[in-house]
Amino acid sequence: MEKVNCPICGKLIDDDPYTDCPYCGWGYTGAEEAFEDDEREPWNLMSKGEAKELLKKGLNVWGEPLPKKL
Ligand SMILES: [Zn+2]
Repeated sequence: MEKVNCPICGKLIDDDPYTDCPYCGWGYTGAEEAFEDDEREPWNLMSKGEAKELLKKGLNVWGEPLPKKL
């Protein structure tokens, strides 16, 4: 299986569309390139920018604290 960096947190995840990142919870679609940072993703119900803001606050996409270790 190919690996790809999570578009939000950069963690290496399986390049398998519709897999949730185990760290930040982002639902990887493989189509992130097609969306602007402030554009809502239908799969994630938030934009990449919003997800990155949460990450900065130490939260995953569900608003829960991130796992301790990357
Ligand atoms: Zn991630």
